[in-house]
Amino acid sequence: MAAFEPKLDDDCIFCKIIKGDIPSYTVYEDDMVKAFLDISQGTPGHTLVIPKTHVPDLFAYDTDLASAVFARIPKIARAIKASDSAIIGMNVVNNNGAVAYQSVFHSHFHLIPRYSDKDDFR
Ligand code: ADP
Repeated sequence: MAAFEPKLDDDCIFCKIIKGDIPSYTVYEDDMVKAFLDISQGTPGHTLVIPKTHVPDLFAYDTDLASAVFARIPKIARAIKASDSAIIGMNVVNNNGAVAYQSVFHSHFHLIPRYSDKDDFR
């Protein structure tokens, strides 16, 4: 795998989170990936997983970045699930393009825990 060379966009809100210019609640972080709580919690623990380089959407991934990000999603999902025994499922959602309801154009994966109780998220 080639050396990872992150590129950040000064106008991107998630790049500002990566740089620490905007606060976030970090769930997981390494050299290529960051996971943090969504500011609008669909269910408790709703987390966003993002590459630590500016990629607008799924269509722009190269294979190395896809391998890194996709490989980490099950690990982060397991950690979230292990945090609360009431979590018995999870939605993983990835919107690409405004037509598909993407509102932040830095690629991200929503991990939305589903609960055995108090779960009316649609
Ligand atoms: P949608 O807004 O339709 O869910 P996206 O899939 O692009 O579209 O999701 C963007 C997500 O980013 C939203 O769930 C939103 O709550 C979240 N978000 C926006 N700004 C912040 C922020 N500063 N910190 C954490 N999450 C954020």
